[in-house]
Amino acid sequence: MNDACNAPGLLAVDQALSNILSNIHAITDYENKPIVDAVNYVLADDVNATMNVPICNNSAMDGYALCINEEQNQYQVIGSVFAGEIFTTPLQAGECVRIMTGAAIPENANAVVMQEKVTREANFITLDETVRLGDNIRLAGEDIRKNTPILHQGKKLKPADIGLLASIGISHVNVVRQVTVVIFSTGNELVAPGEPLPKGAIYESNRAVLIPYLHSHNYHVIDLGIIPDDQQAIEDAFLQADKLGDVVISSGGVSVGEADFTKEVLDKIGNIEFWKIAMKPGKPFAFGKLTNSHFFGLPGNPVSSMVTFMQLVLPALAKLSGQQQVNNHKLTATTTKPIKKRPGRTDFQRAIATINSSGHYIVEPLPFQGSGVLTSMSKANCFIVLNADSGSLPTNCSVQIELFEQLSNS
Ligand code: AMP
Ligand code: MG
Repeated sequence: MNDACNAPGLLAVDQALSNILSNIHAITDYENKPIVDAVNYVLADDVNATMNVPICNNSAMDGYALCINEEQNQYQVIGSVFAGEIFTTPLQAGECVRIMTGAAIPENANAVVMQEKVTREANFITLDETVRLGDNIRLAGEDIRKNTPILHQGKKLKPADIGLLASIGISHVNVVRQVTVVIFSTGNELVAPGEPLPKGAIYESNRAVLIPYLHSHNYHVIDLGIIPDDQQAIEDAFLQADKLGDVVISSGGVSVGEADFTKEVLDKIGNIEFWKIAMKPGKPFAFGKLTNSHFFGLPGNPVSSMVTFMQLVLPALAKLSGQQQVNNHKLTATTTKPIKKRPGRTDFQRAIATINSSGHYIVEPLPFQGSGVLTSMSKANCFIVLNADSGSLPTNCSVQIELFEQLSNS
């Protein structure tokens, strides 16, 4: 791969991701859930429509359903029909029925006129405007047609999908069971927020980012907290995590620092590869298989841990949870400031994207790009993704961005 050639000894990001994905297979345990609890779950089977929606032709307006008689402008009102009712008498040409939105169109009626567009006197209406055949009639099956697929296996269900299921009368649906992720952070220097901070210690922030992130994607999280840099403690944590989860995520201790016991422990209990990935931020990364679970070892630096999680772990979790392949969509934007970069690694620069007055994406890289500067992730709404072989870029350059939040107002 190009990236690796540019930086010998480093694994290209694309290569790392495809190595990971080729080792992950979708969970095939399904559960049957009430539809309102199934949002953000992944559909286990295709769903075909068992009925038309609307089930019959019905009125899109409050008004009058007419049996059009082209020779006349005046119609006799022979009754009324509300939503949920059926008007059983077939209409004759020149007759009409008072009709409410959603009510079934009576037999022989072929248009609906809005109540505001007629003048009513006793049992007669006069049309104030021309009415054409089919006006204001919602046709049976125009939303969902019977016997056609409406949702496909692998779709992560969103509220509108739940609405579709409800509208064809489905109350329960088969979904892939939730993926369980066990998470912990390693480091003697780490202290939980809310605790006093001894000299030399720092507050632990990686789990605080990753746990809500995992929840927002509907993964079940088991939090094992902060584990000290102690070989036995780390081994115990890994053994416990492997028993509890489909996936184990740890942060810290994957670089070759003195206190990094992770590698030693994992060599004993799993089949793990330690990679130096050609990405910035986030070079050290570990991936492999424990006895029961997949393992991801994220770098400890807060931005590195978050970026590697977003680029490498989230796609793997999506695949594991049975989702159709989800790609990080890239958009093209123009830089508003120069960007500093050395060739060798794919750079995920934190940046703010907006749309300018002519409707084009513009993007401003944030000034502090250090792998510990979490403020950059907080301010950013996108990554500028710079290929490994790219060097520094001037202002007004066309770059690829990956939005991870809504656009800011310019
Ligand atoms: P490590 O990958 O363990 O060598 O850690 C790299 C850097 O990230 C060090 O400065 C650590 O103190 C810091 N770090 C490691 N884990 C965390 C964490 N969970 N929260 C905040 N900073 C961390
Ligand atoms: Mg550490």
